[in-house]
Amino acid sequence: MPRYVFLTGGNGFIGSHILAELLNNDFYVSCAVRTQAKGDKILEDFAAQKSQIDISVIPDIISPDAYNAALKRHPFEAVFHTASQFSSNAEGDKYQLYLKPAIEGTLNLLRTVKDHAPSVRRVIWTGSCASVIDYGDLVSVDHPRVYDEKDWNPITLEDVKQGSPSQAYIASKKFAEQGAWAFMEQEKPHFELVTLCPPATFGPLRHSISRIEDLNESNDRLWKYCFDSTEDAPMPYIPVHTYVDVRDLAKVQVQSMIVPEAANQRFIVCARQFSYQDICDILRSHFPELRKRTPLGRPSISSLPQGAYSVDNTKVREILGIEFRSLEETVLDTARYMLHVEQDENRTV
Ligand code: NDP
Repeated sequence: MPRYVFLTGGNGFIGSHILAELLNNDFYVSCAVRTQAKGDKILEDFAAQKSQIDISVIPDIISPDAYNAALKRHPFEAVFHTASQFSSNAEGDKYQLYLKPAIEGTLNLLRTVKDHAPSVRRVIWTGSCASVIDYGDLVSVDHPRVYDEKDWNPITLEDVKQGSPSQAYIASKKFAEQGAWAFMEQEKPHFELVTLCPPATFGPLRHSISRIEDLNESNDRLWKYCFDSTEDAPMPYIPVHTYVDVRDLAKVQVQSMIVPEAANQRFIVCARQFSYQDICDILRSHFPELRKRTPLGRPSISSLPQGAYSVDNTKVREILGIEFRSLEETVLDTARYMLHVEQDENRTV
């Protein structure tokens, strides 16, 4: 008897790794995507396992009946929701682009599961450390902050009005997650909720791309800062001080469905603190051909400011039994992947 699960965003960076992990664990996965072409690409990318996949085309995740038919297709035991606007370069009205699909898309899905999918035991929702970290409190020499699952970013909707697209993204993750927990409290549905908050997520892609410019947002940053720069460029700094490997995140997702103690829990899914200096050191020592393209900085000296915040990952390790791979493994596998895409692209130009 097949075990059915429902997945949104399965054509994206993180979603396609979750799909791979689910298929490898013998689940039958129904993927919700915005167009048939995106669904066809999933079937091509997972050709060897396509008998375990079906596609539902849902062009607009906030339209009231959007998920009705898709969620009635099989007796699903779990729902994974990853679909959310991530690119901080997207242009347009910030509320419509980021907050509305994240907040209303989440509630729409939860409501439909409640009304039409009685077999679902658990919904696993992908959030972000953006909903945890206070970006106004990144560094404190006397008391560096160590964030955990009790923390929430204090960003307000008022901040979004004046702010950048990246603030709109941050707020979309916080308010969508808080909306999901409020739904659970008010509606007391038949299913449990798990929210997962990853930081910067790196790793080789599982879905296919043919050009470097098609990299997803987080790997694209890695590419621009570390593979497509110069030896004497200043070492980049971004206010995201922690990372996770996408393959570990995908394992966490599946564990979140299986482990009884994960029910109704929020997890920060973070491997450890990192700095771009650490990444550049690894790249420069393993790939001599990158030396002119990768900032040298100050080798072996973290480029994070003194007193930079970090994150406590005890809960995810202890409850979900996850061991995170090393930064070196993540960087080397990602580098091999990206250089391969670049080589193929150059060959076809
Ligand atoms: P991708 O951009 O690779 O994938 C995003 C997915 O969401 C795609 O399937 C995309 O579909 C779908 N999507 C975006 N907007 C909408 C919308 N309005 N309606 C329906 N589907 C939509 O991003 P990631 O895989 O990196 O991100 C997935 C999730 O992980 C997001 O929720 C993101 O916030 C979260 N996250 C990512 C991190 C990272 O470093 N990558 C870190 C922390 C959290 P389509 O192809 O049709 O656009």
